[in-house]
Amino acid sequence: MTFRKFDQEEIEMKTVNLEDESLSILGGYDKTRAISEKSLSPPLYQTVSYPLESAEIARKIFDRKDPYIDYIYTRRHNPTTDMFEERTALLEGGEAGLATSSGMAAIFCIASYLLEQGAEVVISNRVYTRVFELFTKTFSKFGVKVRVVNDPTDPSEWEEKVTRATRLMYVETPSNPGLVVADIRNLSEIAQRYDVPLVVDNTLATPISQKPLMLGAAAVVESVSKYITGNATTLGGVLVTGKDWIEEIRRAEYLQYGIAPSPFNSWLCLLGLETLKLRMVRHTKNAMKVAAFLENHPKVAQVNFPGLESHPQHALADKQMNGLYGGLLSFSLKDERMEKAFDFLNSLKTITHAIHEGSSRSVICHPPSTNFADLTDEQMERAQIPRSLIRLSVGIENCSDLIQDLEQALDTI
Ligand code: PLP
Repeated sequence: MTFRKFDQEEIEMKTVNLEDESLSILGGYDKTRAISEKSLSPPLYQTVSYPLESAEIARKIFDRKDPYIDYIYTRRHNPTTDMFEERTALLEGGEAGLATSSGMAAIFCIASYLLEQGAEVVISNRVYTRVFELFTKTFSKFGVKVRVVNDPTDPSEWEEKVTRATRLMYVETPSNPGLVVADIRNLSEIAQRYDVPLVVDNTLATPISQKPLMLGAAAVVESVSKYITGNATTLGGVLVTGKDWIEEIRRAEYLQYGIAPSPFNSWLCLLGLETLKLRMVRHTKNAMKVAAFLENHPKVAQVNFPGLESHPQHALADKQMNGLYGGLLSFSLKDERMEKAFDFLNSLKTITHAIHEGSSRSVICHPPSTNFADLTDEQMERAQIPRSLIRLSVGIENCSDLIQDLEQALDTI
């Protein structure tokens, strides 16, 4: 399978007329269609199947020659989901999108499309735990060799790990929960030199802040359960890449796995996208203030947030993320005892204790005892996750209320 570079000119032409804020609201639903469908807001097609015009048309559809000829079954296509896919693809600067029932489903979909028995994958060790397990536990069972990059910010380590058998390079930037920023342009250059597709998890940045495809990546995956919907109502994912790949995947993996989202979820995603830019600006503004507060607090050992000048990849993040760092940050307490982290979390009054990020409401958790609890001490150390690490997804509330809450909870430990 050869890696296909996007035609930059073609993508720029497609999005030349509208800025991100407008695409987020108008992308994929034009005025003529809105008039004929009699709906100002995106219509919700809550249906599994579609009446077919004639037996001849049904035959043509099943001929598989043209997968886009008409709607047949929602496991393959749905008009509401299509609109969400097109809008996301426009925002990411890609040719086409594929919406899935979760972020994990989108990642599984592209990975299983690119990998085969005997293939190798080069993956950053700073990826969401379930993604790490997907490669190291599940794909490895089927004969895929996984080469782990311990420092994703070091391009030479990536290059060293690429071999003739490499079929996929996978990076998450910024990473969760360490907020490590990898250089997408640099990694794309390596990937293109070896004709290997680079897949970027853009969940924490969103296309509003960072556009990996424009920097040379082959595909983008995203958990839309986070910032895209922005209110913790919807589990979903999206894959954006070239039209050829999307068409092939839709006809095979997508149909076979049954990972299409519910139309209602796609509809919620469309509504969520409308305010994404506004929210990302506000998340960033609040997170900058909270990060600065934490960095100066005597009980805090370290704060990881790409917007801070003390962040090791701050200059890169500034350029690559368009100055919009989002709301996720993590910090460690000077007192490394787990009970201290628990006492701190239990003392919070305004900030909600939950395993989530990217919603309007601020949410906090302790990754070493929750979603990263399966890691061994050695893996934890290698991924630089101290036992006292706290992850805070800063929401869009009034920032002084958040800082006040953090302050009173830190006072109790
Ligand atoms: N990518 C990142 C960066 C995540 O944080 C997560 C989930 O927490 C996922 C992917 C998986 O997404 P989902 O929960 O929508 O399956």
